[in-house]
Amino acid sequence: MLTSLSVDEMYQNMKVALKDIVPDVELRYKAELAVEINRLKKEKNAVILGHNYMEPALYYSIPDFKGDSLELSRKAAQTDKSIIVFCGVKFMAETAKIINPDKIVLLPSEKAGCSLAASITAEDVRLLKARFPGVPVVTYINTYADVKAESDICCTSGNAAAVVESLKSDTIIFIPDEYLAKNVAQETGKHIIFPRLYSGSTNTDTSLDYQMIGWPGRCEVHEKFTVDDIRSIRQQFPDVVILAHPECSPEVTSASDFSGSTAAMIRYVEKTNAPRYLLLTECAMGDNIAAANPEKEMLRLCSVRCPHMNQITLEDTLKSLQNNQYEIEVPEEIRVRAVKSIQRMLAIG
Ligand code: SF4
Repeated sequence: MLTSLSVDEMYQNMKVALKDIVPDVELRYKAELAVEINRLKKEKNAVILGHNYMEPALYYSIPDFKGDSLELSRKAAQTDKSIIVFCGVKFMAETAKIINPDKIVLLPSEKAGCSLAASITAEDVRLLKARFPGVPVVTYINTYADVKAESDICCTSGNAAAVVESLKSDTIIFIPDEYLAKNVAQETGKHIIFPRLYSGSTNTDTSLDYQMIGWPGRCEVHEKFTVDDIRSIRQQFPDVVILAHPECSPEVTSASDFSGSTAAMIRYVEKTNAPRYLLLTECAMGDNIAAANPEKEMLRLCSVRCPHMNQITLEDTLKSLQNNQYEIEVPEEIRVRAVKSIQRMLAIG
């Protein structure tokens, strides 16, 4: 158990996984922080959930559970600990609080937001529902609680197509990620439109024949990858296998060899034996997969670190446990509506 390691044992453990990724001088200091965090975690009966985008030294030292949004939502729903420390971003910690209203949920940095979650408000969803009455609303988990409260069901990048198909509805509102929506529309054979809700909107598709209604939100990390990036990598390394997150544009996912959630990408790399891989996603995750698969060659296209995930450090996680900061609160009136959309998703699997 990582929780009971001495500083020296933790340092040696981290060194095995991270010797090519984190400089040695940093490792010992980070091992000291990690041991203190694990001691406090035990003392305070806390559980630490770590998203796949956490920086490698944190990812390999303190989380009790690691995974993507869906896996961590499930773990948050099952925990019997009284404090949940969420090493991820605010919408994830909010999701944990929505599911566990009686527990203390802590986010180590107040600055860990998300461009996608910030792209839509509850009022936007109400306007969409007024414009398309009776159409079920599928909301990506990367949204804040008040947006989830306006929704029928949540989804993650791992189960988005399954959630859409489970509704058996002729038409679906799918918010807020434009690219994920387009990728799901492509996968499920649906025609998607992006209606003009406000004057000045650049959305122009007013086709009468549609089955999905989207929203122009974007992940500021995944929107940066381009087909030109893929072309140039394939020119240099013709045998590379390219994996893209579904928050990348449909042009990028189509030009890749595989598209899936962070958990699906990890499984893909573990189960295949390609000469080399390139992951089109947040770059800490590339480091974390490389550390877990030292015998596999991972190419780096990595100038793309999520500025929000990057806020979560071992230092701030220690302060979070020491001072019970920053506690996530969700108004009960919003929580009771939001939890239904999360529970419906978790029931689908
Ligand atoms: S990687 Fe993209 S979707 Fe994830 S937290 Fe960062 S901005 Fe949001």
